[in-house]
Amino acid sequence: MDLLTALDNAVREIKETLPSMPLLENEPMAAHSSFRIGGPVRAFALPGDITSFSRLTHILKKNKLLPLVTGNRTNILFPDEGLPELFIISTERMDRLFLLPDGAIYAEAGVSLAKLSSFACQHSLSGLEFASGIPGSVGGGILMNAGAYGGEMKDVTESVVTYYLPQQKLYETLNAQCGFGYRKSAFQTIAGCAIVSAVFRLKEGDPEEISAKMRELNDRRREKQPLDLPSAGSAFRRPEGYYAAALIDECGLKGYTVGGAQVSPKHAGFIVNLGNATSHDVYDLMMHVRSTVYQQKGVPLEPEIILLSPEYRLVDESPAAPLHHVYGSALQSSPENGE
Ligand SMILES: Cc1cc2nc3c(=O)[nH]c(=O)nc-3n(C[C@H](O)[C@H](O)[C@H](O)COP(=O)(O)OP(=O)(O)OC[C@H]3O[C@@H](n4cnc5c(N)ncnc54)[C@H](O)[C@@H]3O)c2cc1C
Repeated sequence: MDLLTALDNAVREIKETLPSMPLLENEPMAAHSSFRIGGPVRAFALPGDITSFSRLTHILKKNKLLPLVTGNRTNILFPDEGLPELFIISTERMDRLFLLPDGAIYAEAGVSLAKLSSFACQHSLSGLEFASGIPGSVGGGILMNAGAYGGEMKDVTESVVTYYLPQQKLYETLNAQCGFGYRKSAFQTIAGCAIVSAVFRLKEGDPEEISAKMRELNDRRREKQPLDLPSAGSAFRRPEGYYAAALIDECGLKGYTVGGAQVSPKHAGFIVNLGNATSHDVYDLMMHVRSTVYQQKGVPLEPEIILLSPEYRLVDESPAAPLHHVYGSALQSSPENGE
């Protein structure tokens, strides 16, 4: 059976089995990504709890399909052409959040990092102040080991529960086994591994001090970052020993524009959508920035944004497909070939 037929069959069965679960078909990702860019994907499902999540993925597995699990899509560039063979699961509605008897916080994958950090503050728990302005979810934050202002998800995550889609099984992973590194976790390398919840261990603190810290960090963000325009945060990872934004700025690239995509004049690390940017504009701009920085500074920049290739396909039988595909292979090849 071909992939499109398998997708049609799965969508039909999901609608019959889970009639109350929101399931959008041929849905443009521009409406669901912080970049406001991207054509339609075949299906976009929003299960509200782990039970619907597992029933949904069971049907996909039966049809030999592997979905892409996303959180808030604040770190992804979707292609304009759309991805007619992609089934996306959004965890947004899986957002149970509560305090455990031992004082740790339990959060489902779809809880926003903003909500998680204010919940911690309300319970006089300190450690998540850094995360209050990161627009992602618990699942995306852990997968990316999101961080800011000296804090990272790895510092506060005690354990992570994942649902391994090929086996339809739940696993608990303790912090030491999560493979956390700079914007990195072991979950990135396991195809079909969905984060469904996590437990956070924080320190007791004074709620007024915690909330003052969060306000201060969010003021810093508003002052330094172009939060009024769509983006996906820092476009490039921090190269060892450097800051990507400083390198880009020193190369005179602030304000450099390709179509509707621009290196933010406010923060050179951000690529912003001026209103009508295409994924190709963003990609071409990233290529230009990358090759200019390499020519002038000799430092190769690697993308932090996940660039979903038009060839993106996740079929259950494929060999371990990495979650991080790039838009064309050029960004991962040598920067000299960039232009
Ligand atoms: C204005 C702005 C500011 C930002 N500032 C920061 C910052 O300070 N620090 C920082 O680190 N990042 C920052 N980001 C980037 C982004 O918010 C983070 O990377 C965030 O952790 C992504 O979370 P998400 O829920 O949006 O993930 P998504 O973008 O939805 O997904 C990111 C990756 O995680 C995977 N994924 C998501 N959820 C799951 C899940 N439940 N199970 C398995 N895989 C999953 C997706 O498949 C994808 O590979 C910023 C972005 C914007 C737009």
